Amino acid sequence: MKRGGFTAAAFLLLAGCWGGDKATEYKSSEYVFGTLVDITVRGVSEKTARNAVTEVSEGFRRMHTDWHAWKPGGELMTVNAACKTGKPVTVSDFVLPLIIDAKDYYAKSDGLFNAAVGEIVGAWGFHADEPPKGRKPPFDTIRALAAAHPSMDDVVINGHTVTCTNPAVGLDFGGFAKGSAVDWALATLRTKGITNAVISAGGNVGAMGSHGDRPWRIGIRHPKKWGVIASVDLTPDENVYTSGNYERFREWEGVRYSHIIDPRTGMPVDHILSTTVIAEDGALADAAATGLTVAGTTDWPRIAKRMGVDRVLMVDDTGTLYASPAMAKRLIFPDGPKPNVVIRALD
Ligand code: ADP
Ligand code: MG
Repeated sequence: MKRGGFTAAAFLLLAGCWGGDKATEYKSSEYVFGTLVDITVRGVSEKTARNAVTEVSEGFRRMHTDWHAWKPGGELMTVNAACKTGKPVTVSDFVLPLIIDAKDYYAKSDGLFNAAVGEIVGAWGFHADEPPKGRKPPFDTIRALAAAHPSMDDVVINGHTVTCTNPAVGLDFGGFAKGSAVDWALATLRTKGITNAVISAGGNVGAMGSHGDRPWRIGIRHPKKWGVIASVDLTPDENVYTSGNYERFREWEGVRYSHIIDPRTGMPVDHILSTTVIAEDGALADAAATGLTVAGTTDWPRIAKRMGVDRVLMVDDTGTLYASPAMAKRLIFPDGPKPNVVIRALD
């Protein structure tokens, strides 16, 4: 599923999921965060489900505006404008926690998950619904921005006041905003007495509880062809986040440039097709999926350990699968020849 250039990398498997108790299932779909967000709620009355989902939808719309890295009118745009001048700016309780989390992920990923790379992402042309076609990327601008080393350490928080000490900083929450939004949504549903629900946002899946008497089964999309590379049965509070390099990219002179940027060079990551992380904290899973993609096939076990995630699956451009031991034992492969999986302990 692709809308507005966003990736659908994992999805709820429908086959065999519709039991006789379908009447207790409430489903809703809407377009937000540049993608289709599907909410499925089970085990409560339709009225309870509808009211809760309406509240969640309103929250999503506010996040869509206030966390947006490039559409005018939201709070993050105001923060970024202040960043360029180095002037302090007051930040609301709606945006501050994301800046705090982004600094934490930056530190724990050794700077590979760097939500301060917004200016570089924008220079590549990814601050648009569709990436540019047929134009040369502005390599000089990109190199200059990368050389200025925008980092989350340049974003100084003092209470609700945020000051940027480097004009090359542009905050871009695209690498973990869906995770934060889905975490909030699940917590909100819980306050309404809902204990079984699944939310799929652009193919990233947050779940709680179960699907009746069986777990939620989630398919991880094959990054090279239509279909599922493997699926997993989720325990009651797990989330599955996948960063894909295969849908949102631009091309120039036969080279593909994707939207996941290596902050050390300003260049897009090119050897990793997708990285999937399962964790109880969806925002962390989302950030780690992006950060581990930057870490690549050699360094990911070290960064995974530092970030505190232990269920990781990576697919590189040769089609090789890499998995942590905790992920490897969870993978359910479709019928047919089993792919080769390189299992790497976290170190
Ligand atoms: P998707 O949005 O397709 O779910 P990701 O979660 O991997 O994919 O997020 C990719 C987005 O993260 C990019 O579009 C950009 O906004 C942002 N980004 C790119 N590189 C980095 C990076 N090194 N660290 C943090 N965020 C990044
Ligand atoms: Mg991510």
